[in-house]
Amino acid sequence: MAMGIVWSIAASNINGGAAWTTAYVKPFGTIFIKLLQMLAIPLIITSIISGIAGLRDINKLGRIGGRTLILFTVTCLTSTIIGVSLATAFKPGTAIPEQTKTALMHSYQEKTSGLIETAQGNTTNAMHMITEMVPNNIFYAMSNNGLMLQVVIFAILFGIALTKVNTSKSEIVVQLIDGLNETFMQLVMLVMVIAPVGVFALIASISFDVHVFLSLLYYMLTVIAGLAVILFILYPLIIKLFSAITYKKFFKTMQPVFLMAFSTSSSAATLPVTMDKVANGFNIKKEISDFVLSLGTTINMDGTALYQSIAAVFIAQATGMELTTGQLIIIALTATLSAVGAAGIPGAGMITLIIVLDAVEIPIEAIALIMAPDRLLDMFRTVINVAGDACGAIAVFGMEKKD
Ligand code: ASP
Repeated sequence: MAMGIVWSIAASNINGGAAWTTAYVKPFGTIFIKLLQMLAIPLIITSIISGIAGLRDINKLGRIGGRTLILFTVTCLTSTIIGVSLATAFKPGTAIPEQTKTALMHSYQEKTSGLIETAQGNTTNAMHMITEMVPNNIFYAMSNNGLMLQVVIFAILFGIALTKVNTSKSEIVVQLIDGLNETFMQLVMLVMVIAPVGVFALIASISFDVHVFLSLLYYMLTVIAGLAVILFILYPLIIKLFSAITYKKFFKTMQPVFLMAFSTSSSAATLPVTMDKVANGFNIKKEISDFVLSLGTTINMDGTALYQSIAAVFIAQATGMELTTGQLIIIALTATLSAVGAAGIPGAGMITLIIVLDAVEIPIEAIALIMAPDRLLDMFRTVINVAGDACGAIAVFGMEKKD
């Protein structure tokens, strides 16, 4: 597989190869992602409902939910603090030549306007964000990638209601949902048969502008260094604190999940694989891991939060803005919130980054400066996002076991 990836990146960069790859190789990657996305919503709904019905105890659900939310907040906030600290220490924004800035602003002008337009229809403040979590039409929510949190809320409410229904009536519903959940998991296994082709096609069809990369290398390395701190320091600490799982085992079990996240840039599309590997690979009670992972895929994005905090500080530095300590704190807090608001789909983090920029009055048009390497950084941050969800599932299960 590794050789295939190296070959495919090389092939996609050879002149003429790119057009051929787009026409004949990319579609296989698209088919693969579509199949995974097709399974994400049915899996979230059936797993959450069957998980809550299996717990049969609202207090237990409240405790698990509370622990999950606290853990997610702590890791996300820590990630943004790491991001802000690294960006302030390394100052990647000051390393970018004036000429490159002008060229980037010019080349990405059109894309920037499109992005700002999309963001304007999005969540812009905390109260709006809360109202947006509540579904009014579950079918609409299910058919919109960005509304996954509404689907999660619906499934939680449905699960709670089901525990209150008389067993003579609820049993059949629970059995049906359990059966559906198992069927969807089997479907995941079927889709995974084509994973090697899908992953290969996805990676082969990515093309990068190496020249722009070089000018933004310092910024990219700052983001990658921050992501590495989360993956190699923060998560091992959490895993060690709450479980007996060694980090070597964590990595080994998560390898296929990481590869999937890296090639699809979508934690939602990766969810079916994450669910399988986390529950079976670490022997975690399925109802707990499915619940934490479903919630995590929609709200827990440590990689995205770190990326947003570094990007915001980078843009401020590049545009000559001096950020005060207060503004840096606001960046860390809003990046935590806007990462929650980002959907688990490619490029979502860049859209909600506008919330962070807006909060400290950094000119949003300057987002053009960081557009070029976003696709690549998205691949890396999605890996951290799914690793964070798995780490959350391990920790919450560990806490439950201790009780
Ligand atoms: N692509 C990321 C994910 O799916 C979200 C982002 O754009 O940061 O987790």
